[in-house]
Amino acid sequence: MEDRSRRAFADQPPLAVVRGWCPTAWQPMMAGDGLLVRVRPRLGRMSRPQMLGLCDAALRFGNGHIDLTNRAGLQIRGVSDHNHLPLAQALAAMGLIDPDAAGDAHAPVILNPDWTPGDDTETIALALLDRMDELPALPPKVGFAIDAGPAPALTHRPADFRIERDMNGALILRADGRDCGMAISVENAVDHVIALTAWFMTSGGAQAGRMARHAAPLPQCADRMPAPQRELAATIAACPGRFLGAPFGRIDADTLRMAMNEKVHAVRLTPWRGLIMEGDDGPSDNPADPLLSTDACPGAPGCPQASVHTRDLAAQLAPYVADLHVSGCAKGCARPTQAGTVLTGRDGGFDLALNARAGAPPVRTGLAPSQIIALFGAS
Ligand code: SF4
Repeated sequence: MEDRSRRAFADQPPLAVVRGWCPTAWQPMMAGDGLLVRVRPRLGRMSRPQMLGLCDAALRFGNGHIDLTNRAGLQIRGVSDHNHLPLAQALAAMGLIDPDAAGDAHAPVILNPDWTPGDDTETIALALLDRMDELPALPPKVGFAIDAGPAPALTHRPADFRIERDMNGALILRADGRDCGMAISVENAVDHVIALTAWFMTSGGAQAGRMARHAAPLPQCADRMPAPQRELAATIAACPGRFLGAPFGRIDADTLRMAMNEKVHAVRLTPWRGLIMEGDDGPSDNPADPLLSTDACPGAPGCPQASVHTRDLAAQLAPYVADLHVSGCAKGCARPTQAGTVLTGRDGGFDLALNARAGAPPVRTGLAPSQIIALFGAS
C-alpha cells in the first residue's frame, strides 16, 4: 500500500532499455524465455513443407511459441544457445532464411498479402529484393512496403518507403510521414527507391533513424495524393485463402500444424496478426476481432524488462476498451505509436495514460489489474 501511494507521486516515466538493432535468424535477441529468432520469408510466403518444417523446428529447437510481427515476419521463441546454430541451419536448409548472415540482415520488405503472381506488387518486390545490395547501409529499423494493390492497405504498418496507388490509380513512391508521393512506374520503381534511400542517408536520415522523423525537404516533387486506405476486411477478402487470426500475434506450432489441413498448399504472412492459409476456402476469422487489434507485448515472464503480466489483462479488457495498448514497460515494443488507452507496467503495477505512447506521463499510477478491470467495467 505504501509503495503504491509513493508511486502515485512519481511523475517521471521509467527508463527502459532500448535496443538499437533488429534480431535475425543468425543474430538472435535474448528475451526472457530464451533466444528469439526472427524469420522473414521471401515475399512473405511459405510453401506447405516450409511452414510445417518451421513448426517442427519451433517445437524441436524452441519452446513451440511462434510470434507474428507487425512487419509480416515470424519469431521462434525460447531457443537455447545450444540449439541456435542447428535451428538457423535447419531454416537455411528449408530456404526460409539466407544461408549468409549478411544476406539475412537486409531491410524488411512487406508486401500487401493480396498480391498475385506477376502483378505490380510481386514484380516490384522481386526487383527490389534482387537489388538490395544497391541500397545504402540503412538504420536498423528502416524498411519498405510494396502495396501496389487497388488502394493502399499497409498505410498504418511500419515502413519508411512505400509504393502505393494515388487517387487516379497510378503508382507512387511515398516517404513515410509525408502526405504525398512521387510518380513512378513498375519499370523504374526500384531505381527511385534506391535514389530516395541514398538521399535519406546523405541528408541526415541516419541521425533521424526513421523516415517519418526526417524533416529534410524531399529531393524530388512529391505531389501525388495516395488513394484512401482500403478497408482491412476488403483486403483480407481479396487474399487467396482463409485468414487465420493469432491473438496478440502469437500462435503455437501445434495449433498451426493442426490448421494446415490438406487444402493448404502455402501460407502467407500478414502484418495484421494473422496468416493467409492459401487454398483453404473455409470461413476466415474476423480481422476486426478486438483481440487482433489490441496491442500487448509478451510482458512477464517472457521479457526480463517486464514486472507485470500483460496479455491476460489485455484479453479481458479488449472487448470493452477500443484502441488499447498494454505494455510490460515503457519501451512499448507492441506499439511505438500512441493508443487511446495505454497501460504501462512499472514496479509490478500499471500506469494509465490516454491518447499516449507507453511510458507517457500517466493520469493514474500503480494500478493493480483488478482496479483496471473495475475501472473499465470489464468484470
Ligand atoms: S515493452 Fe514489453 S516486450 Fe518490450 S521490453 Fe518492455 S516488457 Fe519487454
